[in-house]
Amino acid sequence: MFVSHLHGDHFGGLPFLILDGQFSRRTGPLAVVGPPGTATRLADTMECLFPGSSTTPRRFAVEVTELAPGTSRTLCGVAVRAWEADHPSGAPALVLRLDLAGKTIAYTGDTAWSGAIAEAAADADLLIAEAYYRDKHIPYHLRLADLRAHLDQLTARRIILTHMSADMLDAPQEPSFEQARDGLTITL
Ligand SMILES: [Zn+2]
Ligand SMILES: [Zn+2]
Repeated sequence: MFVSHLHGDHFGGLPFLILDGQFSRRTGPLAVVGPPGTATRLADTMECLFPGSSTTPRRFAVEVTELAPGTSRTLCGVAVRAWEADHPSGAPALVLRLDLAGKTIAYTGDTAWSGAIAEAAADADLLIAEAYYRDKHIPYHLRLADLRAHLDQLTARRIILTHMSADMLDAPQEPSFEQARDGLTITL
């Protein structure tokens, strides 16, 4: 599980995933990769939601790896590289690039436009990009307008938009971008 940053809408599902593993008798380890602070914030969140759950013995290990911006690692067969996003969240937020099985996936997380996005997405098979609003400026977030303005720098073969407000979801889709939806499965 790769986590871009430690806001609730991006990592808040982890306690439920871990508890689901516990109740469905999971045995394989769960690798969680996120920014510095992930281990503590995950334990704090588990304690807040389900007191005692962060120390309950389980049949599977939760292996947290913290990745600083500007570093890269290979974990579980995935080569991951991280850049610092422009998005305060009580810990450094990351723009991620994952290489696995001969394919490359980049993910903006939440961030204001930054050159890191173009670097992370260079020649990628897929860029998953935040597109919060079409034109409305929200500090530390990406708009469709930002992606459009920098489209010539984005060399990923596919761009799928996510993190969309109603303003985006209600508007007609544009040919340069696909839109994510709940339950979407992507084949590369
Ligand atoms: Zn955020
Ligand atoms: Zn968010």
